[in-house]
Amino acid sequence: MAYNAVREAKQSFLFEQFFPERLIINQSAVVDGNLSLNFGDTDGSLENRKKFLKKQGIDYTVLVCAKQVHGCVAAYACEKDKGSGALSYESAIPSTDALITNIKDIPLAILTADCLPVFLYDPLKNAIGLVHAGWRSTKEKIVANTLEMMRKHFSSDPRDIFAGFGFCIRTCCYEVGKEFIGIFDKGLSLREGKMYLDLIEVNKSQLTAFGVQGKNIFDSNICTFCKSSEYFSYRKESHSCSRMMSVMMLSGVEEE
Ligand SMILES: [Zn+2]
Repeated sequence: MAYNAVREAKQSFLFEQFFPERLIINQSAVVDGNLSLNFGDTDGSLENRKKFLKKQGIDYTVLVCAKQVHGCVAAYACEKDKGSGALSYESAIPSTDALITNIKDIPLAILTADCLPVFLYDPLKNAIGLVHAGWRSTKEKIVANTLEMMRKHFSSDPRDIFAGFGFCIRTCCYEVGKEFIGIFDKGLSLREGKMYLDLIEVNKSQLTAFGVQGKNIFDSNICTFCKSSEYFSYRKESHSCSRMMSVMMLSGVEEE
């Protein structure tokens, strides 16, 4: 990988606390266009992916994507998975909402518009996880499942794990039905007779319950619905909505 590309990727780094010398981590925005191959207008999606990933120093043809189903399954991505879902939706890893790896130069991607992307990094085992946490997957405790899988595959200790929350719809805007009282015992608030869900609060509590330290949890603090001119919001644009890409890769470049 060209060193300049890595430099540039560092400048768009989401969470400065996340060891930028070892990781490429970013989330796209409206300006990068639709990056989904199965939602929204997909005509320019491959070209958009190529452009966005090139800026990160990533070859778009080796991207690893999942067929996201709002479930709780995490998959371990290895060399043979490189390129899964990169050029066609059909080739993506089936029925998966989180990806983990400890192999360098395997870029993991998830696609969202309002759902919460959670970035996980174990700096001691040098392993990463990327989670698609909408309300259904959050209910199924997908972050805990992903951490459990990182423990199994990489012997990750949750106390070492860094976690970051990407752009998603926040409690300011995420109105839900009263039936959510029976689904979540945390993260709900009532304002002027309307119920709101806080995906961040629920996922944060699942992370800390698993042993992740509060000081290792970071937040982009961006609400996709509040800032829908800059970030795609499914709630605002409905079924025609494009998707943003969260991407994470262990960089093969030697540490400085
Ligand atoms: Zn908002």
